Amino acid sequence: MRLMHTAVVTPVLPAMARGLKGHCPRCDQGRIFYRYLKVSPECPSCGHDLAQYPSDDGPAYFTILLVGHLVVAPLLLFPFIWKAPTYLVVPGVLIPLAVLTMLVLPRVKGAVIGALYALKVRREDQALHTADRLD
Ligand SMILES: [Zn+2]
Repeated sequence: MRLMHTAVVTPVLPAMARGLKGHCPRCDQGRIFYRYLKVSPECPSCGHDLAQYPSDDGPAYFTILLVGHLVVAPLLLFPFIWKAPTYLVVPGVLIPLAVLTMLVLPRVKGAVIGALYALKVRREDQALHTADRLD
């Protein structure tokens, strides 16, 4: 059964904080994901339809933005990165970056779902996106 959107909606930042923790943006109790990045069809605690929020490529974009700009760019300021042998730098940097990215991605996806919940953006609203319209 699909719930109507008449419930009290959480403000954007608290909803994003709930999603950041991997919790349902509505009740802050149930888990958003049933596997690494798989969104539960509905909240196991309150039954809210979590699959209706089209996070799509947003979490990947914001994760790249965060990791790339807050970690990779400052890392280049340290001389050992460009003076050390490549066979040491590449695995020594790429492996921790991959681990960091894998840790950040589900949190960012939860935050994006929280923002979409608070802003009432749902998959059914995709028809309103002018780029998706057929001529
Ligand atoms: Zn819930």
